[in-house]
Amino acid sequence: MTAATFIPVDPTVEDCWRGIILYGQNSASYKFALAQSLLQIKPQAGQLLKLEDLAPIFGKAIAAHLGESPKQGTSKPGKFLQSVSAFNIDSDLDALVAATLLGGFQHVIDAFHNVGSIAVAHRFFIDERKTNKGIRITDEFSELAQGLQIENIAQEVDSRWRLVETAWNLGVSANLLVIQHDQELSEMFTIDREMKRKAVTSSRSALNGYQKGRCFYCFSNLKLTGEALNTDVDHFFPHRLKRTHQHLNLDGIWNLVLSCQSCNRGSKGKFDRIPSLRLLKRLHIRNEFLIGSHHPLRETLIRQSGATATDRTNFLFNIYKTVQLNPQSAWEPEDSFLDANFCNG
Ligand SMILES: [Zn+2]
Repeated sequence: MTAATFIPVDPTVEDCWRGIILYGQNSASYKFALAQSLLQIKPQAGQLLKLEDLAPIFGKAIAAHLGESPKQGTSKPGKFLQSVSAFNIDSDLDALVAATLLGGFQHVIDAFHNVGSIAVAHRFFIDERKTNKGIRITDEFSELAQGLQIENIAQEVDSRWRLVETAWNLGVSANLLVIQHDQELSEMFTIDREMKRKAVTSSRSALNGYQKGRCFYCFSNLKLTGEALNTDVDHFFPHRLKRTHQHLNLDGIWNLVLSCQSCNRGSKGKFDRIPSLRLLKRLHIRNEFLIGSHHPLRETLIRQSGATATDRTNFLFNIYKTVQLNPQSAWEPEDSFLDANFCNG
């Protein structure tokens, strides 16, 4: 399962944006910084965004992350990142802007829309650096900015950035890195080389993109924060199984999905029932969406559920056979918004 499966043949602007954020290859964090800057500036369709106006926001976004996670790329920091580090000490914004204009945008504007070797179908800006020293915002960006998912999308960018930089900064080899979930704090964390716990990001914003902002069970729209918050982090195989199946790592990311509160604990909610086989297949697809993304969730999922897609299918199915003693009682959501599914099944 790859980004090509995540992004359908006729994608929405959200599909393309999430493809870029979740599946783009990252040798440095500039793509996240550009995405975050655009969401912060909120330019209008047709607007020319001059690099000189983009530079302070973009530079400061990297500076903020650099302050907490010194590695913002896979190679040794070049002149640009050294200048951003200097800004964290001297707060010289003019110097930061000059350094950003000189070295910050070189590759990111060319590569922003690429996922793998091809560009996504919807572009969020046109490169006009040669003619107008900036980028021209497209209608697609406005459509994204005005969409229902925009608040979630802004959080997903930050979340993905934090996950990737954690992998770069922990100094453990990627296949040893395991991201864990804290149910009480609804937070993802990991353990560093000194065996200290390190908070990484909100579990909701880390998982939301892979479900395209929809409830795992009924496909209703999720709201991750604020007064309209309607999202629970749900254990697909319920927590109560821990009592009888202590060997199962039920808090593993492989078993965590985002659910609307109605499906999780509404009047006909799931509570601690075991979902149907149809939904188990959907869990496999969701997990393969996570695997298709680059580190560190990929490595976590592989360690928890197997190295190949067949291993992972068997892993889920074996648990299902062990714990689902009465398939007739399997839980299904009451309603399903079929037009809005994030995956088939
Ligand atoms: Zn639901």
